[in-house]
Amino acid sequence: MRQSHLLATTLREAPAEAETVNHQLLLRAGYIRQLAAGIYTYLPLGRRVLRKIEAIVREEMDAAGAQELLMPSMQPAELWKESERYEVYGKELMKLSDRHDREFVLGPTHEEVITSLMGEVSSYRKLPITVYQIGTKFRDERRPRSGLMRGREFLMKDAYSFDTGWEGLDDTYSRMYKAYQRIFERCGLVYRAVHADAGAIGGQGETHEFMAISGIGEDTIAVCPACDYAANLEQAEVHTEAEAVQRNVSNQPGAEKFHTPGLRTIDQLEQELQIAPDQVMKTLIYQGGGKTFAVLVRGDHEVNEVKVRNYIGASEIALADSETVQAAAFVESGYVGPVGLPVTLLVDRAVAAMTSGITGAGERDFHLRDVVPGRDFALEHVADFRTAEEGETCPVCGKGVLHFQQGIEIGHIFKLGTKYSEKLGASVLDANGRSKPMIMGCYGIGISRLLAAVAEQNNDGQGLIWPAALAPYRVHILLMSVQDEVQTAAAEALYEQLAQLGIEVLLDDRDERAGVKFKDSILMGIPVTIVVGKAAAEGKVEFMDRRSNSKEVIDIAEAVSRVT
Ligand code: ATP
Ligand code: MG
Ligand code: MG
Ligand code: MG
Repeated sequence: MRQSHLLATTLREAPAEAETVNHQLLLRAGYIRQLAAGIYTYLPLGRRVLRKIEAIVREEMDAAGAQELLMPSMQPAELWKESERYEVYGKELMKLSDRHDREFVLGPTHEEVITSLMGEVSSYRKLPITVYQIGTKFRDERRPRSGLMRGREFLMKDAYSFDTGWEGLDDTYSRMYKAYQRIFERCGLVYRAVHADAGAIGGQGETHEFMAISGIGEDTIAVCPACDYAANLEQAEVHTEAEAVQRNVSNQPGAEKFHTPGLRTIDQLEQELQIAPDQVMKTLIYQGGGKTFAVLVRGDHEVNEVKVRNYIGASEIALADSETVQAAAFVESGYVGPVGLPVTLLVDRAVAAMTSGITGAGERDFHLRDVVPGRDFALEHVADFRTAEEGETCPVCGKGVLHFQQGIEIGHIFKLGTKYSEKLGASVLDANGRSKPMIMGCYGIGISRLLAAVAEQNNDGQGLIWPAALAPYRVHILLMSVQDEVQTAAAEALYEQLAQLGIEVLLDDRDERAGVKFKDSILMGIPVTIVVGKAAAEGKVEFMDRRSNSKEVIDIAEAVSRVT
């Protein structure tokens, strides 16, 4: 490619709203442009990196036995009503209607579409089946930010697996887990797999998130150096199974009680209770040791989408599972208030309290606002459930000392079980002719977010430094003076030669000053730069490695052999 015609204008300054390094550099180096909040065009350079990422993902998905398909973004609202996610998904769901006033959504994920499609598979012999796609997702994020990190329209690889039993799902899940490890390694990321929380997607089993380690990550993860325990802090909070006792939840002065019938989304709750976004409560459901816990934790000062989503997740579980209906019923009547401490309740007791007629938030269909821990419930028992703290002993091995890291969620895998297959009729006849719902898993990778995460981890402030596997071009030839015939001829010959050899090469043939070319090249971050300047007269070029910053004057032939 000749840079004189490349659709990529470099910018000296990033727009003020670009706060993170990846966002600034991707804009400045001409990889992306914003069209509207959270909506981006991938310019040719950005598109090339995406294609590299996609190719790696495809290879690893294919190798893991997954089949590629492509599902529509426009999905009938009806399908989402069937899965009971239409309301519960909340405002993140983009809705639209056609000329006949039929309602549609723009898919934020594809469990509904794929599960309804699987209805056509009727025999257990056909399973297991895993499918995947790479495509556009739509989520009306409350706060699109950090460029590609949190888009409202973004690229995702999503995969869905269908097995006849849980053992099968365990196999598929671990195959996907390993494929994810290879993908992120090949992308050159520093990452970690952590225990996660099921959130809005619900599900009945294990779930892991893959976190790119980065100071700008929105998730905090607790890591034990002595064993392999690592968990998203939301999950780390609920790992202990100590006794927590609810007490005296009631009409204390200041704790206002609100009638809020039925299951509702966090958006509705916020409206009804007039809770400011930064006062959102988090709700988790944790099933373990034969018990079900409802865990309510105050949100951060920052609006945390994860936490909002957890609340919705609880509502969803309530619809799916009778044991947790009680938990969620309690959650529905739980505490909401501008208090800074985690609030935790053991659900068995809470439900008992509820049914024995204790008033206040212990009553179904009521919420409390302005609850004060210690006044409205016993604090001493809450400690066992509090958020894990840095420096604490690991809850799993009891040896290591937990430390915290920030992470960017780049991938997420779930054991879903029958949550969707039951609602949407994906079942097979087993060997005895009995109908059994398929056992599902789902597996996402944020393709466009991954691009941003790689950029965030690979730069030196001056510009991007692409890992070879993802770079838009392998070699950047800088022709120092387009007026100089010898230099021009040498650069053109080198360009042709490399292109012939199948090397992806970008030739800076612009009529620009050398300084500008160097600056832009550093900004763009192509792994190898070959400078064709005065030394071309002696058949020599300057060979520069972007990552190590090394420079060497070598013969043109030697330069060619180093990149082939
Ligand atoms: P987050 O916690 O960041 O909101 P999520 O848990 O809602 O993400 P999933 O539903 O697990 O996301 O989707 C699978 C993957 O898609 C995520 O792991 C992430 O890499 C990516 N992803 C999710 N939301 C966005 C977004 N708004 N922009 C870009 N990538 C996203
Ligand atoms: Mg989200
Ligand atoms: Mg998440
Ligand atoms: Mg997730």
